[in-house]
Amino acid sequence: MKKIVLLGPPGCGKGTQSKLLIEKANFVQLSTGDLLRLETSNNSDLGRKVKHLMDSGELVPDDVVIDIIVKKVEENKNKNIVFDGFPRNLNQAEVLDSSLENVSVKLDHAILFEIDFKILEKRIKNRIIETKESEKRKDDNSETLLNRIAVFKSSTLPIVNYYEDKGIISKIDGMRKVNEVYDQITKIIS
Ligand code: AMP
Repeated sequence: MKKIVLLGPPGCGKGTQSKLLIEKANFVQLSTGDLLRLETSNNSDLGRKVKHLMDSGELVPDDVVIDIIVKKVEENKNKNIVFDGFPRNLNQAEVLDSSLENVSVKLDHAILFEIDFKILEKRIKNRIIETKESEKRKDDNSETLLNRIAVFKSSTLPIVNYYEDKGIISKIDGMRKVNEVYDQITKIIS
């Protein structure tokens, strides 16, 4: 059973590719963003605590996401897992490794979506315009978007070196069509 991490800036298509891995390759998606949004939409204590950070595009505290993800790792240890939006910084990457080790599994691949940031900004702005008001995410606005990209560059990109040192990083061209990106991923994981 494979365990893979998708790394890339907001709007690069990690969610879309995770859905394809679920449909076509029998994967379970663990998205910390989705899990946190569930908390905010249920208006739970945790949801109320992290809402303002999510709305502004800042990372929520590590202990919050780690708590959520560690439980899910244990529940799904015998399945193919695609981690989407986790880890987001070096500490989370290290915790993911140790929580996988605790259940006797390890990460097989970390896949980095290489993206032209100028085109990405255009893409996300279009997504904001095209999405119905009722379906819009609160953090889908230009100001938050720019902050999310900045947070990606400062906190998440350094993880690439960490996975490079472990010899499990693969880089793909995230600017290609959806099915072509998917083909690149399946070549890596097969
Ligand atoms: P996403 O759906 O992955 O873009 O995540 C939406 C928001 O949830 C982010 O902008 C953060 O505020 C929060 N979030 C999601 N995953 C993490 C994570 N691994 N660490 C910290 N914050 C996260």
